[in-house]
Amino acid sequence: MSIEKRYILVKSRINNDAVKLLAVSKKQPISKIRQLYLLGHCTFGESYVQEAVEKIKTLSDLAIEWHFIGPIQSNKTKYLAQYFNWVQSVSSLKILSRLNKQRDPNRGKLNVLLQLKVGNEESKKGFNDNELLAICEKKEDFENICIRGLMSIPKPSDDYNVQLKQFSHCKDVFERMKAFVDVDTLSLGMSSDLEAAIASGSTMVRVGTDIFGKRE
Ligand SMILES: *Cc1c(COP(=O)(O)O)cnc(C)c1O
Repeated sequence: MSIEKRYILVKSRINNDAVKLLAVSKKQPISKIRQLYLLGHCTFGESYVQEAVEKIKTLSDLAIEWHFIGPIQSNKTKYLAQYFNWVQSVSSLKILSRLNKQRDPNRGKLNVLLQLKVGNEESKKGFNDNELLAICEKKEDFENICIRGLMSIPKPSDDYNVQLKQFSHCKDVFERMKAFVDVDTLSLGMSSDLEAAIASGSTMVRVGTDIFGKRE
């Protein structure tokens, strides 16, 4: 199926003007990014720093809004602060402080989502509920950061009700953030679970495979 057909299908599954679509282009070739851009899409997500920076430089002729959604090592934060518009996968205070220090104020604030850990899996990165809210309380400490909301990658499940339950927990924490910060972005849902995410209040879904096909 062509990218255009896949893209139209994904948009019809979203079927909600209030929900933004982030096209996840990690491990996809530059040519496919250009193709989707020509169809009018301009927000893209990447997960690997080196690959992303190369793509951003190569595609600097396009007005793309770049989101980083991958795991973050602290020795790579300077590239994220320099090249990205958004970092969705902030999962420690140390990473947030480094991004704040390394962001050039002339580039405007860096948009950040705090990553929430759900399901208490040891391996998954992210804050627990209270840690995440404590950071929102201290938002003044990060003058070059704009906290826009939260992102989560719940444990994959084929069961729609399990998906719903995990996503609704994220929605609850998102609502609690509003006591401290003006948040507007709840980034939940990928190719396999975007319907449950939207039913739970997601404002941004991150879709790779169902737009571009299988990754290289
Ligand atoms: C890869 C990735 C996606 C996209 O996953 P698909 O299943 O290909 O849609 C979304 N979010 C994050 C954080 C990812 O790493």
